[in-house]
Amino acid sequence: MLVPLINTGIAVSVIGPSKLPMDGLLPEPIATELKITLSNAGVDWHFQNTVTTVNHATTSNNNGYELTLSNGDLIQADVVISAIGLCPNIELAKTIGITVNRGIVTNEYLQTSQPNIYALGDCAEVAGHNLLFIAPILVAAKALAKTLSGQTTAVKYPAMPVAIKTPNYPLIVAIPALLAKGSWQFECASSGFGIKAVFTNDSAALLGFVLSGDMVSEKQVLTKLLPDILA
Ligand SMILES: Cc1cc2nc3c(=O)[nH]c(=O)nc-3n(C[C@H](O)[C@H](O)[C@H](O)COP(=O)(O)OP(=O)(O)OC[C@H]3O[C@@H](n4cnc5c(N)ncnc54)[C@H](O)[C@@H]3O)c2cc1C
Repeated sequence: MLVPLINTGIAVSVIGPSKLPMDGLLPEPIATELKITLSNAGVDWHFQNTVTTVNHATTSNNNGYELTLSNGDLIQADVVISAIGLCPNIELAKTIGITVNRGIVTNEYLQTSQPNIYALGDCAEVAGHNLLFIAPILVAAKALAKTLSGQTTAVKYPAMPVAIKTPNYPLIVAIPALLAKGSWQFECASSGFGIKAVFTNDSAALLGFVLSGDMVSEKQVLTKLLPDILA
């Protein structure tokens, strides 16, 4: 979302607690290149910072807001966009005694801990996986439709790389499982724009990847080599 804004000439400031953009998702060399690319486009980064107050501006920017950051800096803004993450709403499930964790806990058949109550989508934590995007919902919906029609079918999640909407610096992300053991290796695009980062284990099996810039063309080939998320 930031990049289309910056590309239309709107000044964009980004404030966040990490050292680099999307540092929970991107290996450092790619996060660094993303930062540089967007800096060159004009993005004004405020890393290792949070917003402590948002007030109506009292100075020249009468219709806007004045943000105070944790380091004391002040930023004037016409519009403030909060993008501080998604969290499944599990309150209703919790209230009626369904087992919850990060999401509503289900087995591989999308069954919750209560008979005949199923969970699907962002709210569901399916056999340990709480995946907050459309592709897994489609897979799960097909399996659940079969189960409810009498043909009990487990959800099988294939590898599902995600395209991040940063057109100035294309990104495809298939992050390795949280507990995966291995290491990252990096290769720069011959064009000079983009990086291929692959995460492999001791046996050189591919467990995850992040592609940026001109390297995103390798998505199809690498996706075929990834293990299923839920087999
Ligand atoms: C800004 C943004 C951009 C995104 N972009 C992408 C993208 O490009 N690609 C992608 O794959 N995914 C994207 N996603 C994620 C994707 O939108 C979600 O994974 C998907 O919408 C989840 O579908 P859902 O049906 O589980 O939940 P939702 O779409 O959130 O629908 C839940 C519905 O339940 C209703 N509801 C809540 N509580 C109750 C209740 N007690 N009773 C009845 N109804 C209730 C809500 O009002 C809502 O209508 C994006 C998400 C966001 C926020």
